[in-house]
Amino acid sequence: MHTTEPGPDYAGLAERFTTPLFVYEADAFERSYTQLRQALPHGVDIMYSLKANPNISVCALLGSLGAGAEVSSHAELVTALRAGVAPQDIIFLGPGKSDAELRACVEAGIAALVCESLEEAERLDALVARRGSEPFPVMLRVNPSFTAKGQGLAMGGKPRQFGIDERAVRDAKHRLADLTGVRVTGIHAYMGTRFLDHASVAANTGRILALAESLAADLGIGLETVDFGGGLGVAYFAGESDPDMDLLRRDMDEVIADFRQRNPRCRLMMESGRFLTARAGTYVVRVREVKESMGELFAVADGGTNHHMAAVGIGSFVKRDFPVRHLGAPDAPPTHRYSITGPLCTPNDLIVKKAPLPEVRPGDLIGIDRSGAYGPTASPGLFLSHGYPAEVLVHRGGADLVRVPDTTEDLLGRQRLVRTR
Ligand SMILES: *Cc1c(COP(=O)(O)O)cnc(C)c1O
Repeated sequence: MHTTEPGPDYAGLAERFTTPLFVYEADAFERSYTQLRQALPHGVDIMYSLKANPNISVCALLGSLGAGAEVSSHAELVTALRAGVAPQDIIFLGPGKSDAELRACVEAGIAALVCESLEEAERLDALVARRGSEPFPVMLRVNPSFTAKGQGLAMGGKPRQFGIDERAVRDAKHRLADLTGVRVTGIHAYMGTRFLDHASVAANTGRILALAESLAADLGIGLETVDFGGGLGVAYFAGESDPDMDLLRRDMDEVIADFRQRNPRCRLMMESGRFLTARAGTYVVRVREVKESMGELFAVADGGTNHHMAAVGIGSFVKRDFPVRHLGAPDAPPTHRYSITGPLCTPNDLIVKKAPLPEVRPGDLIGIDRSGAYGPTASPGLFLSHGYPAEVLVHRGGADLVRVPDTTEDLLGRQRLVRTR
């Protein structure tokens, strides 16, 4: 499923930065970015979804390669700006935006706010009117009447808290025309995540582009921008393979060329978090103890699902394992099956179940591959007060700490001791 390359000196990094540790590789981000760039026709902008990995150095790296940013909180917006992403290459989306977030978008002059409801557009309109600033560009996030094709966590075609139902968008012409502080420039739709099949991605893109054209006609607006989401996956589990990027290019060329003929100047955006980051990260834990219970071997490590919730299993009831390596003996043949667990007091703290590995001893390093997306950011790092781990970026010039691990004082410093008796 993946090739083993020489890779970083994990033992040296673990020694220098402590474990548990996320190791990110600059070259791997670059390879993923280039793959996606080459699979998309010229003129489709890649928007990096910070949700997948909000580390500012990761955002800066992807930004320097040419990615814009798709952000969903005030902190993500500030991250993208400080990372050096130009405001005109940033979009802000997500349900339940605060007034402070709307204001920050206007002040920064980002490319567009993606409105999740008409009420939100009205709130933005009022804010712009109070400030007396120019009408602010807005994309309407649509909850399409159709469901996505293909595997993955599908959205669309069902009740959702995201976006505006397609029907309601069609009926919104007059309500939107009253808003002088916002300018509807386009349509956004996001059909789901973990799509591995190129044909589904292209088919979904085609349907969203067609929907955008039809909605623009109903609303009487010129179509300046369409963001057709993304959700391109990577293989994690046995039987999966990474998307075929050559075939994706072939299919996307066709779908987009057709749209381009009618909309030559429309800015197109594709969002990507997982695809750009997953393969660039390895979660490195050190085994503290190896024990046997009723015939099953457990390697109890210093980090677990508190930093890597995704490894518990993504939307499935059957435990499926992320790719795992014995970093001290990467080429040795497996001798036993080990369940790798962390320091949490819950049986769910299971990173891999009965994975075949060479002999594991206390002190050995284990690497969970393809862990650059939805790692710490999507994990209960405060559970049992272990805190969030270190993150290191390995690049041609060496290796740098890009996130300092939490200490007990960091965790307790946020609390206030109030004695009530
Ligand atoms: C989560 C999310 C993304 C990123 O999805 P990936 O599968 O990580 O690429 C993009 N857009 C929206 C609207 C999202 O909610």
